[in-house]
Amino acid sequence: MHTKKTLPNLFLFLKIEKKELRVHTTIHTFFFDIIYMHTNYDLIIVGAGAAGLMAATVAAEKDKKILLIEKMDQAGRKLRITGKGRCNLTNTSPLKDFITHLGSDGRFMRNAFSKFFSTELMTFFEQKGVPLNIERGSRVFPKSGKSLDVFLALIKDLERNRNITILKNTSVARIVTTTEGRVVGVELKDKTLCRAPKVIMATGGKSYPSTGSEGEGYEMLKQLGHTIVQPVPSLVPLVTKEPIPEELIGFQLKNVSLAVMNENGGKIGEYFGEMTFTPNGVAGPIVLSVSRLITRMVHEGKNITLKLDLKPALDVTTLDKKLIRELNENGTRVLKDALRLWLPAEMIPLALSNIKIEHYKRLNQINANERKMILNMLKNIIFHIESTRGWDEAIVTQGGVNLKEVNPKTMESKIVEGLYIVGELLDLDADTGGYNLQIAFSTAYMAANDCFSKD
Ligand SMILES: Cc1cc2nc3c(=O)[nH]c(=O)nc-3n(C[C@H](O)[C@H](O)[C@H](O)COP(=O)(O)OP(=O)(O)OC[C@H]3O[C@@H](n4cnc5c(N)ncnc54)[C@H](O)[C@@H]3O)c2cc1C
Repeated sequence: MHTKKTLPNLFLFLKIEKKELRVHTTIHTFFFDIIYMHTNYDLIIVGAGAAGLMAATVAAEKDKKILLIEKMDQAGRKLRITGKGRCNLTNTSPLKDFITHLGSDGRFMRNAFSKFFSTELMTFFEQKGVPLNIERGSRVFPKSGKSLDVFLALIKDLERNRNITILKNTSVARIVTTTEGRVVGVELKDKTLCRAPKVIMATGGKSYPSTGSEGEGYEMLKQLGHTIVQPVPSLVPLVTKEPIPEELIGFQLKNVSLAVMNENGGKIGEYFGEMTFTPNGVAGPIVLSVSRLITRMVHEGKNITLKLDLKPALDVTTLDKKLIRELNENGTRVLKDALRLWLPAEMIPLALSNIKIEHYKRLNQINANERKMILNMLKNIIFHIESTRGWDEAIVTQGGVNLKEVNPKTMESKIVEGLYIVGELLDLDADTGGYNLQIAFSTAYMAANDCFSKD
């Protein structure tokens, strides 16, 4: 019975353990190791992104046999492009502020952050030889300005560690469990079975699918009974119903504010800072923040409106007084040219389409109603949101594995014993600023620590 079970597995193992096989010279060692390795993976980690690499690093300290499976030809593809290639790996704002950037689900992370937060993460990387810098907005980057250094700090030690086998170009298709609901391993796309009593799922979300995260983890977990909160693209540019004049595409506005209005015209948020224009809508830092607030509503078909205030530092009364003065001082100029008094040249076509005044009217002929129109244009340019841009442009996924089904102290599934779920796969997302990577690293840390806590 034993031989029957073991032999086919040996051949499966031969297929997946090429790296190990090269190392061994004698037949005896060869077979001993095959049997030992194959029957004794202590942990399988699926996905070698930010979370998977951290989980493997932490688990490696426990001297256990670990199999890390990555479907792409390289690990950490997304990690390497984070922060525009600079990797904003965390944020040093205090916990109570940090948590607010995760929204209402931030509570789920309290346990994880009490064990492994920004201070611990920074120490972790500095000890691995990656000096860090804290920049504007408490954002943390490697001093070198290279995300590659963060990636290398993780992968180098893993590649050197004989207890860890990294399989690249290998896709996991299914999580294998007993009928009692205990994890026993994973099945690869080519039907190979890899066994372990613990599995950490770190397959990421659906954003930037070219990096490997295509949402496969959701399906695998759904098959085991997990509920998936519908994933929608977040931290993503927005498509407006209003066309964007050609002159504006790529143009950046600074120190403006965007108010977000729901279907009933109620204000649900306001963001101050920089934004830019795309061929079919708006993008840039404050638009990404807006997208996080509205993406689910937009995908549910709700009507959302943005109000752009070009002069947020001036209230309506002050701005009106300024307008009256400047209209008088420049009475002989025509409106089309005089708009330069209040706006960058690139904004003029959009401004003119927002005010129904004859373009060549002299300023000294502008009446009170028309002045109100100009005032309104400066404080309230309206954009109706058609949709968000797609997964290729979304920095994170909103939605994922229902947090109620995961133990926040361990990241273990409440449905399948021995199965852990970490990183962007969870229904957790945050603003830009280093919060999302900290979520990935902290959840991975918790899972990897819990895996062997009872051994
Ligand atoms: C352009 C960009 C810039 C960003 N910049 C920042 C930033 O500066 N700071 C920040 O905090 N956050 C940033 N983020 C977000 C952050 O990168 C993610 O939240 C984080 O990488 C999530 O980590 P993860 O390990 O859960 O998933 P991922 O990093 O997506 O890793 C998942 C891994 O699983 C693998 N995988 C998937 N399915 C399978 C399968 N079936 N079998 C085997 N392997 C599989 C994938 O190939 C991938 O390698 C950025 C995101 C993008 C797209």
